[in-house]
Amino acid sequence: MKVLSVASEIYPLIKTGGLADVAGALPLALSAFGMETKTLIPGYPAVMKAIGDKAEKLHTFDNLFGERADVLSARHAGLDLLVLDAPAFFNRFGNPYNAPHGEGYSDNWRRFGALCKAAAEIASGALPGWEPDLVHCHDWQAALTPVYMRFAETPEKPSILTIHNIAFQGNFGIDIFPWLGLPPHALAVDGIEYYGNVSFLKGGLQTAWSVTTVSPTYAREIQTAQYGMGLEGLISARAHTVTGIVNGIDTDVWNPATDDSLVSRYSAHKPRAREPNRQALSERFGLDNDDSPIFCVVSRLTWQKGMDILAEVVGDLVAMGGKLAVLGTGEPGLEEGFRNMVRFYPGRVGTIIGYDETLSHIQQAGADAILIPSRFEPCGLTQLYGLRYGCVPVVARTGGLADTVIDANPAALAVNAATGIQFSPVEPWALSHAIRRTISLYNNKKAWLGLQKQGMKSDVSWKASAGLYADLYRKLDLMVSKP
Ligand code: ADP
Repeated sequence: MKVLSVASEIYPLIKTGGLADVAGALPLALSAFGMETKTLIPGYPAVMKAIGDKAEKLHTFDNLFGERADVLSARHAGLDLLVLDAPAFFNRFGNPYNAPHGEGYSDNWRRFGALCKAAAEIASGALPGWEPDLVHCHDWQAALTPVYMRFAETPEKPSILTIHNIAFQGNFGIDIFPWLGLPPHALAVDGIEYYGNVSFLKGGLQTAWSVTTVSPTYAREIQTAQYGMGLEGLISARAHTVTGIVNGIDTDVWNPATDDSLVSRYSAHKPRAREPNRQALSERFGLDNDDSPIFCVVSRLTWQKGMDILAEVVGDLVAMGGKLAVLGTGEPGLEEGFRNMVRFYPGRVGTIIGYDETLSHIQQAGADAILIPSRFEPCGLTQLYGLRYGCVPVVARTGGLADTVIDANPAALAVNAATGIQFSPVEPWALSHAIRRTISLYNNKKAWLGLQKQGMKSDVSWKASAGLYADLYRKLDLMVSKP
């Protein structure tokens, strides 16, 4: 099958979150299932620089939302890319969505509307020699694609919309509607109208043939008022077309047996070779070099990630004999709070404010456990890295965290199935209790080693999930009547 993937970011070219990882990894994993994917992405400066003069012009839109735009074809890092070269929209440095002062660009609806319109035209056969059988869109920035496809004159092709985080919806004032080039009846409850405004995500949820999200638990959660962010009614109404498929990770980049960032490389057969990494981590974070357990955090320091809840129980963690190494950036109050704790608890808490990919590997290889007390977590990646690196995940029982970590309850421990610790609700007392359970398991060396080894054996690659996406693609393809 030929698949057009549409995404506003893609690893390794441009990344702000998990969406880029999925957009970058899935095409490669899907090729093993006979899927040929081309990914349409905006021509940001970083993308244009990476493809350089290797790109070939395939098509020109003379008037795409009032601007001229070219579709370029290029290969990069094993990916087949279609780059929408529209300097008026995308030739902006820095964050792909936000102006330097941090607010979203005021013309984001035009920028990503143009991306979606171009995608729908490609779906209808705008490119010479290549026409997709199916279109797979990611998040609100691509969500208008199935809307354009629904209202196009050509026969509609199957479409999938994947939600990576329902908190981001692409909602705009109703005054943009006339500029979108959609027929009047698209501005309706079964179109893109949303409480008197226009919503890209809502339009996509309404019109995509199938909706997926990045874990089965999150797929259920977003059908409830607590997690659905206003879209729960629509998602519940379409529940029969909604599935959850967990993300995988790049098991070559995240492989403790070959990872160049580590002081000492190791595997599930030699977990004790982690020790030098543990010492390196202690030194880096100024922690006491003793046997007590090191908990780590690699995270955005935000409310979603439950970092305020963690801040409340750091005193308990230290009193129970634990140590804490925090790496993150985020809300200024939380950054300040974790920085201050280093002075309150010298040798027991270390904080590094910043984004440091190499250090994040060292943490997974050196810490004993990773704390992930998220209020919601569509999938989450750091618990998957933790599993692979023998850094036992201690997670809130929500979204992908609930689906990928097996709690060390007595039954799971008895059959050697446990891979981490789960807790619920996401409240300070429950997190504190989970830390107590973790420390008590840590003090039982046999049980702890079992937990680490079982985690390291978990399949966190893309293989199984790519197979599920391929099954879904084929199922949708069967719904198309062939001439
Ligand atoms: P989200 O996308 O919601 O931030 P995920 O767990 O899905 O959460 O992905 C976060 C990614 O960002 C992971 O790859 C994690 O290792 C990385 N990360 C987060 N904060 C930092 C940091 N301060 N330094 C290095 N890597 C980080």
